[in-house]
Amino acid sequence: MWRRPKPFIAFLVVAELVALAWFVRVFLDTPAPDRLDLLRFGILTAGATVHIQMTRRQEERRRNRVRTVLIDLTAVWVFPAAIILPGTLTIALVLLIRIQHWFVARRPAHNFVFSSITHMLAATVAHQMVVILGGPQWDSLTVAGSLGEFGKLLLVGLVYEAVQILYVGSILSLAAQARPTIRGVLGSKADNLLEAITIGLGAVTAILLVILPPTVAIMAVVTVVFNRLAELDQLQDDVRTDPKTQVYNMRGWTESAERALARATKAGDGLGILMIDLDYFKWINDTYGHPAGDDVLRNLAQLLDEVTRPSDVVGRFGGEEFLVLLPETDQAAATGAAERIRSAVARLRIVTTDKRGDQITVSDRTASIGVAVYPHHGDSLEKLMQAADAAVYEAKEGGRNQVRLAEHRRPHGVKPAH
Ligand code: GH3
Ligand code: MG
Ligand code: MG
Repeated sequence: MWRRPKPFIAFLVVAELVALAWFVRVFLDTPAPDRLDLLRFGILTAGATVHIQMTRRQEERRRNRVRTVLIDLTAVWVFPAAIILPGTLTIALVLLIRIQHWFVARRPAHNFVFSSITHMLAATVAHQMVVILGGPQWDSLTVAGSLGEFGKLLLVGLVYEAVQILYVGSILSLAAQARPTIRGVLGSKADNLLEAITIGLGAVTAILLVILPPTVAIMAVVTVVFNRLAELDQLQDDVRTDPKTQVYNMRGWTESAERALARATKAGDGLGILMIDLDYFKWINDTYGHPAGDDVLRNLAQLLDEVTRPSDVVGRFGGEEFLVLLPETDQAAATGAAERIRSAVARLRIVTTDKRGDQITVSDRTASIGVAVYPHHGDSLEKLMQAADAAVYEAKEGGRNQVRLAEHRRPHGVKPAH
């Protein structure tokens, strides 16, 4: 933590001190909990414990995979505490949950402290909002009354999510090495949706807890299943991603490419396909070892991602061969893109380690690129890929480090003259 930028450390310390001062105020303001409060606290703690312990292994997997902020699904238990428990018990519940999390996934201590404080802050500020709105009044409701209560829950849920986004977002924007992106700071749409659903489930838990406490057991089961569903989304991405390079694997690439080809056919647009094969890649493995070779592949994949347009589709065909699909592209533009990639590869410098673990820089690598374009070289993905592949071999034959356009396909039914 201390090696981070100064403004980051300053903000972190100040933000945490302000939060602590706020918690002291909460403690001073909150009357001692009564027996009903303690009973509800016990039920929420039990539910959260079941949830955490039943999803341990899966949460470990999820944490290892997620690269951005991890959405914490325990808001299902913390949000109801914010609505119906005194502030002190809410803070205690977050503490009990966080201690269990610590044993599930140890992370850097300052991260852990900061996110624990974020949860407490969101919950206690949301609780303050509930108090201001006059507390939950869920017995003997009229139609208008129940709509009013629903509105209150929505408002409190918004406050809960807003506090987290602002608190975490400001720290992330300071921690970012490069210019922070909106997505990086505020989280993706899917992340925020997940968080919103979690808060919604938390509101349901609160209602059940007040009206019919034993039914909270159902919520414990629901949260375990919900955790699985949250992982499903991630798994769906995984089956389309090459684990080594994080670009599409062939399944993902082919799906995207088939859709793009169907669109091009319908619109009468051109579409380019590049097959990229690194030259003498085996030499890198033989000379520096396979881990160095893997680093080169990862860097190449990242380079392809960077030098192409957002609408282009990059995939790993296998080994050291990559595919790029270029929508709305004619022969000249596709060849131009291939040429850009070829020269970018030639300029690529990759810092990695050799067989003995010493740092080395791999540079002066080249690639041979085959280009095929719809509709000239084929009207199906298969034919286009074959044409691009044949062009790669032409490029290799021709001396490598070059771009080759595929041979023109013979028109149907015309036999070559002998
Ligand atoms: P050319 O210029 O003819 O393309 O020569 P090349 O050495 O690049 O081609 P060749 O097909 O002979 O060798 C490809 C090598 O790529 C062989 C294989 O060991 C290596 N390879 C395939 N997949 C991986 C991988 O995931 N990681 C590493 N490190 N190497 C891989
Ligand atoms: Mg090859
Ligand atoms: Mg090769």
